[in-house]
Amino acid sequence: MDGSNLTREKRLAFEVIERNARAIALTGDNIFYFGELGNQEYESAALMAGVLEKEGFAVERGLSGFPTAFLATYGTGAPVIALHTEFDANPDNSQQAGVTEPTPIVDGAPGHCEGHNVNAAVMIGAAVALRRAMAEGGITGTLKVFGAPAEEQVLSRPYFVRDGYFDDVDVALHPHIGPELSVGHGLQQSALISATFTFHGETAHAGVAPWKGRDALDAVVLMDAGLAQYREHMAPTSRLHRTITEGGLQPNVVPKRAQIWWYFRDPTAEGAEKLFGHAKKVAEGAALMTNCTWEHAVLSAVWPTRGNRTVADTVRRNMEIVGHPQWSDDEHALARTLQERAGVTVEGLRDKLPPYRGEARQRPSANDGGDVSWKVPMVKFYFPANIPNIGFHHWAAGVALATSIAHKGAVTGAKVLAGAALDFLTDPALVAEAGRTFAEELGGVSYRPLLPVGQEPPKILNRDKMEPFRERMRAHYLAEKPEFV
Ligand SMILES: [Zn+2]
Repeated sequence: MDGSNLTREKRLAFEVIERNARAIALTGDNIFYFGELGNQEYESAALMAGVLEKEGFAVERGLSGFPTAFLATYGTGAPVIALHTEFDANPDNSQQAGVTEPTPIVDGAPGHCEGHNVNAAVMIGAAVALRRAMAEGGITGTLKVFGAPAEEQVLSRPYFVRDGYFDDVDVALHPHIGPELSVGHGLQQSALISATFTFHGETAHAGVAPWKGRDALDAVVLMDAGLAQYREHMAPTSRLHRTITEGGLQPNVVPKRAQIWWYFRDPTAEGAEKLFGHAKKVAEGAALMTNCTWEHAVLSAVWPTRGNRTVADTVRRNMEIVGHPQWSDDEHALARTLQERAGVTVEGLRDKLPPYRGEARQRPSANDGGDVSWKVPMVKFYFPANIPNIGFHHWAAGVALATSIAHKGAVTGAKVLAGAALDFLTDPALVAEAGRTFAEELGGVSYRPLLPVGQEPPKILNRDKMEPFRERMRAHYLAEKPEFV
């Protein structure tokens, strides 16, 4: 990084980040060992909100009814720049950091395998640096830092948008872990609707008088079969997948209640709604065939993440200033060993900024930040802390997340995030330009939440999957907490 042509504020922010590299690393590492599932991120949220509160942010907790959500605000007036990210883990993905064989920290426990712990470290590191730069540089404007729970259930941010938390925001920035520093504009991800279908029948003795029962599990199986047949006829860009969340209690009692939970994905919000509409017909058919009744509940519904051109260009300029991290021989060796073990292309870590293509490639993944990106100019950008070619939601993706690879990646990500935010905080013309290109990009599309009107978020999601493990996981929590200086 060549610091000679940095603005004073940017140099100050980058100095704060470098000076606090250890605190940033500890933020990510503490959250790694908390390993908390969506809506259960009590320790993670308390740690993050605590750091920001101590730093002078006004912290509001429990946004939109989510107990682990928070909004930390600093400053007043225009422009209003928002940072947002997630910090949840995944079920059954506990993995010891730095170990290249499947080695759970606590067997069967949740764990970070998508790097949301490092996302959190990047956001907190940037927020602290921005606060200091704003205070010392006399920068006016408002910084809003959103802690968004339960990304893995694509849950919270559509509710934040619906409830007006982004109404006054001018520009939003979302950091996410990846294999290299990258950013793009246009459609980045897909729309997703998450919904459960619950069937109700009647119990009977399955051995003595099964004809007296009405089997809710049969309805679940038939719904699954019905949508499996539909897969041939849906657009190749669509995806649907499910887990059976309730399947009866024991074989000799005909299940009177069974439930299947679906994610419906499509490149467009309309496409996801179409899939969901078809699924409701299949559910009706399954209920008719089994003489059951049924109901559905939407948990969340998100628009595809899109990147604004002006924001993407600004983030890219900061990536060029900050540069890609350089890795040690040990870090490359860890990456290569893991890539060999996982049977993917062995290339070690990437140390060069990739060419800027501008337009993003739309992926089938979804993120609950999608709705934010249709409300205000936004971009979701990637910082390098995951080992290239290692897919998320697999033990191998947990290996780097509390090592020096994650620590270096987080410092880089925090600088890019702080740098881009400062560009908008200090240049009203750039904010106006983002607003103009955003309106142009949206064309005739007017954003409306995909969430059903009056939808309440599922507040106790994942408690039963977290609590059995929490005490055993607590033994692995780090003693040292981040102290920003
Ligand atoms: Zn993610």
